Amino acid sequence: MTYRTIGLEIDDVVYQRAVSKAVTDGKTINQILVDLLKDYAGKAVSMPSAPPAPVTAPPTSASPAPVSPSQPASTTPSIYTVKSGDTLGAIAKRVYGSAHKYFLIQKANNIKDPRLIWVGQRLVIPPLEGAVATGGVTSTPHPAVVTSPAASVPVAVTVPSSTDGKNPRPTVEFVGSPNFNRRPHAEISAIVMHATANGTLQGVINWFNRSDAQVSAHYTIGKDGTIVQHVRNEHRAWHAGKSEWQGRPDLNSWSIGIEMVNWNNGQDPFPEAQHQAAVNLVAYLSGKYHIKPELIVAHYDVSPGRKTDPRGYDMDRLRREVTARI
Ligand SMILES: [Zn+2]
Repeated sequence: MTYRTIGLEIDDVVYQRAVSKAVTDGKTINQILVDLLKDYAGKAVSMPSAPPAPVTAPPTSASPAPVSPSQPASTTPSIYTVKSGDTLGAIAKRVYGSAHKYFLIQKANNIKDPRLIWVGQRLVIPPLEGAVATGGVTSTPHPAVVTSPAASVPVAVTVPSSTDGKNPRPTVEFVGSPNFNRRPHAEISAIVMHATANGTLQGVINWFNRSDAQVSAHYTIGKDGTIVQHVRNEHRAWHAGKSEWQGRPDLNSWSIGIEMVNWNNGQDPFPEAQHQAAVNLVAYLSGKYHIKPELIVAHYDVSPGRKTDPRGYDMDRLRREVTARI
């Protein structure tokens, strides 16, 4: 395997910046993420009393701006979660006292079109002084390894299974695909299982990393049980195409797509390690998103006549073993 691995719990802001930078720099998302995370890790090490705000900010909430105009002297960026009715100008006015300074926020977040922000988007709010430096992905070199226990930044690591909860998150290797967009609603209430019709995990990664492929899935499970994540759960991956289940169309918008490496010819076996990884992953996701067993479906269920995958995979066994775990 030649792909690099990245911690799974990547802050939204870091991820957004990586995606847009990957496009402008012609690099892979992972190359950019490694650079960004090194940068954040370096800041965490050099400023132990000031944890890196973009990474340790609280999750999205309905609360008003965490940025207060009374803190202009701050030298660390903060996070602002976009609310309904916001514009970059309005946010700039609130945090800087001037709508004209919107470009500082635009620049810090690599936003191409300042009109295109969305509710729930988390924006880096750079401090007024040094606002330019917060885009400092290419500035002074930082140590690649986090040595401060205060730093919570993952740097190019495989995230091990979490140990809390009934069905912990399995170990996942993140290799970001550019093929995703926003979910129209936050809802995640189904899981669609697929087969890749491709023989190797690396082949799937390479294909999903091509923006012209216009396809992706959230996860692919290798024959040996390795789980690679291509798209964050919160985003809409492009795996189901024209689809419908229980009268609802467009499964991509409200499901998580899981590929299994398999030729989908009815002959190629799904090894036990691969099946067990699928049970672990589906049980984790079902618990996390409260997905009902009848909404763990095959691609052929939701695109009948058009799709046959995952051919030969025992969906009933998957549902049964997942149900027993949740
Ligand atoms: Zn499929």
